[in-house]
Amino acid sequence: MAFEGLTERLQNAMKKLRGKGKVSEADLRDTMREIRLALLEADVNFAVVKDFVKTVRDRAVGAKVLEGLNPAQQIVKIVDEELTKMMGETAVPLNKSPKIPTIIMMVGLQGAGKTTTAGKLANQLKTEQNARPLMIAADVYRPAAIDQLVTVGKQIDVPVFEMGTDVDPVEIVRQGLAQAETNHNDYVFIDTAGRLQIDEQLMDELANIKALANPTEILLVVDAMTGQNAVATAEGFDNKLDVTGVILTKLDGDTRGGAALSIRSVTGKPIKFVGEGEKMSDLDVFHPDRMASRILG
Ligand code: GDP
Repeated sequence: MAFEGLTERLQNAMKKLRGKGKVSEADLRDTMREIRLALLEADVNFAVVKDFVKTVRDRAVGAKVLEGLNPAQQIVKIVDEELTKMMGETAVPLNKSPKIPTIIMMVGLQGAGKTTTAGKLANQLKTEQNARPLMIAADVYRPAAIDQLVTVGKQIDVPVFEMGTDVDPVEIVRQGLAQAETNHNDYVFIDTAGRLQIDEQLMDELANIKALANPTEILLVVDAMTGQNAVATAEGFDNKLDVTGVILTKLDGDTRGGAALSIRSVTGKPIKFVGEGEKMSDLDVFHPDRMASRILG
């Protein structure tokens, strides 16, 4: 289960406080040390952890928590609030273009979940808003990627524009957008190529697609299971493409939590959705407060 170790360690750190009639400064120091270790072990970015611990401690001291009633309860509340802040405070909805179509470019490393997530989002817009999306297959390096998008399209009954693997991805996108215009599609998803790691050629290609399509959203899909690597990946993509949001996938797995907790603080970009399974319905809006509550258990 996701966050299992982190939840247990945070709960243990707080439980020790709860058992005490009065919380001393030394108790607070011990608790903060345990929280710090729990976050580091969950693979949360070091600088993020440092800031977090300092903020929680300063708030606890500033609010004279130790002298008031229910100090343990108040510290739990501060931790909850600061975890929520760390993840972005509030849910950030999908941006919509004033003029159709809203173009959404999906980027990320190979295997992160771009194709699956494009399908999930298209399906959600279709079923919840009666949208008429089109998906463009712009990953020409893996023939299986195109087949996979076509299969997803059939499954959710959303058309897929593809030109095989012998055409330049930028040209595929150009023609796909022209088809969307003809057919009055209100959303266009561009499924782009991924690599096992970030490389210049891929980034240049993505930048060219961005320049042509001028997308409303560039959603970076990252695998939550990859922890700090996910954060480094996010920084790499963001530096080159200025992404508009992040989708964290595989939160149904036993991720330690580092990616979910660090990405917002490190990149400044909101996590908009989370993937929690392989089915088309397994996509949820990301709510930082609910995630904080879930992490605290
Ligand atoms: P892409 O290479 O980025 O397009 O990644 P895919 O969409 O092909 O996804 C790679 C694998 O991850 C597939 O087997 C997906 O079913 C799986 N996957 C994607 N999102 C999730 C998720 O949220 N949870 C789980 N358990 N698997 C996922």
